[in-house]
Amino acid sequence: MYVKGVGPARAAVLETKGLHTVGDLLSYAPFRYEDRSNVKSIQSLAPGEMATVLARIHSATTLRIGRFSKRPGGMFEAVLTDNSGGRLAAKWFNGSFLANILVPGMTLAVYGRIETETPMNRLVMLHPEFEILPEDDDEGDASLHTGRIVPIYEAVGKISTKVLRLLTNRALEHAAIPPDPLPESIRARLGLVPLREALHGIHFPAPGSDVRVWNESRSPGHQRLIFEELFWLECGLASKRSQARQADGIRFALTDGIRKKLKHMLPFKPTAAQKRVLGEIAQDMAAPQPMNRLLQGDVGSGKTLVAAEAAVIAIENGYQCVLLAPTELLAAQHHLAFKKLFGKLGYPVILLTGSQSPKEKATLKRMIAEGIVKMVIGTHAVLTGDVEFHKLGLAIVDEQHRFGVLQRLKLFEKGVHPDVLVMTATPIPRTLALTIYGDLDTSLIDELPPGRKPVQTIHVPEPKIAKAWELVRGQLRQGRQAYVVYPVIEEAETVSMKAAQKMHEHLSAVEFPEYKVGLLHGKLRAEDRERVMDQFQRGETGILVSTTVIEVGVDVPNASVMVIEHAERFGLAQLHQLRGRVGRGASQSYCVLVTSSLGEPARERIRTMVESNDGFHIAEMDLRLRGPGEFFGTKQSGLPALRIANLIRDRELLELARAEAQAFIAAPPSEEDSRRALAHIREHWQRRYGLVQVG
Ligand code: ADP
Ligand code: MG
Repeated sequence: MYVKGVGPARAAVLETKGLHTVGDLLSYAPFRYEDRSNVKSIQSLAPGEMATVLARIHSATTLRIGRFSKRPGGMFEAVLTDNSGGRLAAKWFNGSFLANILVPGMTLAVYGRIETETPMNRLVMLHPEFEILPEDDDEGDASLHTGRIVPIYEAVGKISTKVLRLLTNRALEHAAIPPDPLPESIRARLGLVPLREALHGIHFPAPGSDVRVWNESRSPGHQRLIFEELFWLECGLASKRSQARQADGIRFALTDGIRKKLKHMLPFKPTAAQKRVLGEIAQDMAAPQPMNRLLQGDVGSGKTLVAAEAAVIAIENGYQCVLLAPTELLAAQHHLAFKKLFGKLGYPVILLTGSQSPKEKATLKRMIAEGIVKMVIGTHAVLTGDVEFHKLGLAIVDEQHRFGVLQRLKLFEKGVHPDVLVMTATPIPRTLALTIYGDLDTSLIDELPPGRKPVQTIHVPEPKIAKAWELVRGQLRQGRQAYVVYPVIEEAETVSMKAAQKMHEHLSAVEFPEYKVGLLHGKLRAEDRERVMDQFQRGETGILVSTTVIEVGVDVPNASVMVIEHAERFGLAQLHQLRGRVGRGASQSYCVLVTSSLGEPARERIRTMVESNDGFHIAEMDLRLRGPGEFFGTKQSGLPALRIANLIRDRELLELARAEAQAFIAAPPSEEDSRRALAHIREHWQRRYGLVQVG
């Protein structure tokens, strides 16, 4: 990177953030702006406001907490003055290290909330953000850092916002700004500013700009750069998709004979949505390219049945089918469901999971390799292992609400191009689905099987838990069954297992001595788990006390009430998943959320659950309450780290970028445009996101 001030040492630091080139440096956007063109004098500050003040350090002191205290730290206080004659105290608790950094005579810009301190009504700022302003031009002259709207950057290692400001300024003035990669026709048609202007705009807002517009990323420069980032992302996805379309896949025929078998298998009349979705899948399967389809449907909408139908098509065409589940319990549940469905057709179904003995696994794997078994159900571990298929035609990936984009890619590395159907029960807000599953075609089951009544959700504070047991008792008397669920707290399955064990004792001995109560948790051996599930499935146990291992996949239509303890500890997606375990039969079902203490976000979650049964609404709320990073989980998401765009805030630009990208990839305006775009994606997109292989 050729910018004055960036030697090998700084370059190395910048690279830790992926900033390799001048272009990278310039796309490192400020996260906030401060209007220092019109800073307030200390005299004019009002308590309660957020303000930037430029002032000189008059004196500084470190106050130890207790004279003989051995604790490090202590409070650091700097008294600031300016020409207005006012005084402002800036305080940092545990700030004694600042004594060597902030010394009297320096000029600072401080930013924070103004408060007053009794008894003297002294003006203070607690833990302000600060910047030491340069006295000479060794770090750029002062006019770079004051007297205008100033960009604030997140420090990169030891490189402070001030240095970044200076380097960015130098890069803009002296270095070669890369040519504008955005196709000119698109840029001009959408009225987006050229690259150079955009970069100037985000790093150095013109005098007189409204700082709020910049802070909300709505300036013309921001909008253009956000659009561009999303445009390349969507171009990458679109080209990946069109590439996948060119690969050789299997043409599965849907003959009358197969139709007959499907009819024969069905235990009930499919809903209109199930029929439509199966039609979409069958069409994909018949096409010469590999299918890449996402099957979305709220919990309980009947995805399993559709998946089984697709499997029948593959198997009847002479291929094998694999179904991958995220947990062993879910795999076991699918195994049961498929055994039941395929019983009439006479297909053997095998289950392959991590907890089987090596010998057992070896035998099963041999049967798979020889093509003796047609339907294999297993955990995702099946994929990472050394399982060889004889003739794999269809892979069904049940992700529930765990996103595993990378796992999907792994499947393709197995050589052949089987058709892939991904099932998810998390309704993803549309714009996000476009990105995270942007390379998939989507089908949606938007209808529940007939006769379902929406689950009634009730909030019960812990002291009134007797109300919950009353409701359970009422349901048990009518011959129904109940779940009682404990959260797994911070991975500590042991802790919640103990809570579940205690509750199991309490419920079986004290509350419901006349009923059988089962206990299920993650520490049980696989056989025991299956036995407990079996007993509940057959109705031998009235109540199933469980940790969240039942979160996904359990299907007992006779269960009509679920009590969730410590509901405040669950996320919305999880609560919705859990609740989906009831309401599967025709009778009215209930979900009781028991809470012991309630913070504000938890209160909001409980309220959302009580008010809504709509998975899409709940997902939107979840996203709003947690933000996209948390929503998707970090590592697993496969969601690229965006530099300037924000998928929630910028959803309109995302829609636009997607439409433009699809049109562009399908029909580039010129050869030259297309060549340049591919080169750009190859260089930038691939390096940054590593997700797509172009050309
Ligand atoms: P999910 O979409 O959550 O995987 P399932 O496939 O487990 O849903 O189906 C939920 C329940 O609804 C199961 O008990 C299943 O047997 C039942 N079901 C599915 N489709 C229908 C239908 N068309 N009519 C009646 N019941 C159905
Ligand atoms: Mg399911």
